[in-house]
Amino acid sequence: MQATDCTKCGGSGFLESGDKVVKCSCLVTKELKAYLPKIFEGDKIAKKFTFTSFAGKNITAKGTIRRFGSLVNTLLTHHYLRDPKFTYSIVGYTTFVEQFFDGDVAPHYEADLLILLVYGGYQHSKVEEYVNSLLKDRELNRRPTLVFIDKDFSDKLLRDRLGESVVSIVTKFTAVNI
Ligand SMILES: [Zn+2]
Repeated sequence: MQATDCTKCGGSGFLESGDKVVKCSCLVTKELKAYLPKIFEGDKIAKKFTFTSFAGKNITAKGTIRRFGSLVNTLLTHHYLRDPKFTYSIVGYTTFVEQFFDGDVAPHYEADLLILLVYGGYQHSKVEEYVNSLLKDRELNRRPTLVFIDKDFSDKLLRDRLGESVVSIVTKFTAVNI
């Protein structure tokens, strides 16, 4: 829908509410579309959601990537509506290691929320060292991490890919089945 199609605000994006000016839902929808991660575009935003059981916590969610996409979109929508400056970064565990060599990994340390994806990927000798240091640094700075683990990852595969020390960190996080 084009902003100009909006019958509530006539396309301005703003509405008068008493003596205040508030954002029209069409503008919020547009902003959210730009804010939410592209890889989860189209994944549903749940109507019922207990924000406080997720906000500020280290969480490990095991399930399918589509259901995780829905969780991420819902959680980020709640964060955004409370504070549009809330930052997040999203990265796969082997992509993170690749970025160490030829990219900028600072956002993954500094974002208000890191979303770490453990699916696909491949065996890499540096995963354990780098991901361990990332998770520990975030814990030290009290910045929460949301870890996704593909339901098809067996415990053995998880240990092979992430290493014992990283598995031991993420299994201490609050576990959520999705
Ligand atoms: Zn509108």
